[in-house]
Amino acid sequence: MKIEITGLNKVYSNGKHALSDINLSIENGMFGLLGPNGAGKSSLMRILVTLSTPSGGSVKIDGYDLMKERGEIRKMLGYLPQDFRFFSNLKTWEFLDYAAGLAGLNSKITRRQKVDEWLEKVGLFDARDRQANKLSGGMKRRLGIAQALIADPKIIIVDEPTTGLDPEERIRFRNILSELSQKEIIIILSTHIVGDISSVCRDLALLSNGFLKFNGSPEALIDKARGHVWQVQVSGIDYDLMKEKYAITSTIPSADGWEIQLVAENFAYAGAIEIEPNLEHAYVYFMESFIDQ
Ligand code: ADP
Repeated sequence: MKIEITGLNKVYSNGKHALSDINLSIENGMFGLLGPNGAGKSSLMRILVTLSTPSGGSVKIDGYDLMKERGEIRKMLGYLPQDFRFFSNLKTWEFLDYAAGLAGLNSKITRRQKVDEWLEKVGLFDARDRQANKLSGGMKRRLGIAQALIADPKIIIVDEPTTGLDPEERIRFRNILSELSQKEIIIILSTHIVGDISSVCRDLALLSNGFLKFNGSPEALIDKARGHVWQVQVSGIDYDLMKEKYAITSTIPSADGWEIQLVAENFAYAGAIEIEPNLEHAYVYFMESFIDQ
C-alpha cells in the first residue's frame, strides 16, 4: 500500500485555502497527522476518503487515481469520522451488518461471522440487541470503530482517535490499532493531541494553517527540539513573567513556587537544567518557531 500526494490544494468556495501544495508519501504502518484545530487535517482526510474533491494536485493510492477511480479506492477504505452518528433505529448488530454490506461484504454468512467477531473485539457483544443510536457515547464510538474495520480495509483513516473515549477505552482502541498495524495496511490517525500518536506512529506529518511543516519520524521531530527544553524552579512572580515570554509545557507546584518545563530558542535562569525533549515538547517547539517566522 502506498498513498502518493502531490501538489495538493484545497480552496473552499469562501476563498479559504485549507491545504496549500501538500506533498506526502504514506506507506504501510501507522501514520500520524498532527496539527492544531484549523490546520487542514479534516480537509485532507475528507479528500482521501473521497468525500471532498481537491482544488488542485493529485492523489494516487496503490497506483489508482483518487479523482478517476473513486470506486476502486472506496473499496480499500475504512473511515471513522470525528462525529460518528447513526441516523437509524437499527439494533447494534443490524447496524454493523448493514455497514458490512455497504463495504462490500455480500455473503450473509461471512457478514454474520464478521459482525459477531467485531462486536466481541470492541466489547459490544452484550449490547448487540440494543438500539444503536441509544448506546452511550463511548459505545457509539466503539461501534464506529467496528464499522470502519469490519470489511478489512487496506487503508484506515481515523479522525481524532480518542474523542469521547475514557482511559480504558483508549487503551482498548490503541490495542486494536496496534494489532492491525502488524498487517500490510496504512492507518492514518489525524489528531491535535500529541499523546494519541506518540508511541505508535512510525511516521508523522505536521500541518499548520494548511501547510505541511514537517514530515518524518517522531524521533526526527524530537531531535529538532534537543537543546531547547528546560526544567526550572521558579517563584510565583517569575512564573507569571515566564508565562508571558515562553511556551510552558508543564507546571507542577513545588515547595516555594513552581517546577516548570518550557521550550525556547534560548533560555538562561539560575538553576535551569536542559532536559531531553519528548514529542510533546518537540511539537510545541516546532509550532512556536513558526509563529515567530
Ligand atoms: P482541522 O481538521 O485541522 O481542524 P479543517 O480541515 O477542518 O482543519 O479546516 C481547515 C480550515 O478550513 C479552517 O480554517 C476551516 O475553518 C476551513 N474550512 C473547513 N471546512 C470548510 C468549508 N466547508 N468551507 C469553508 N471553510 C472551511
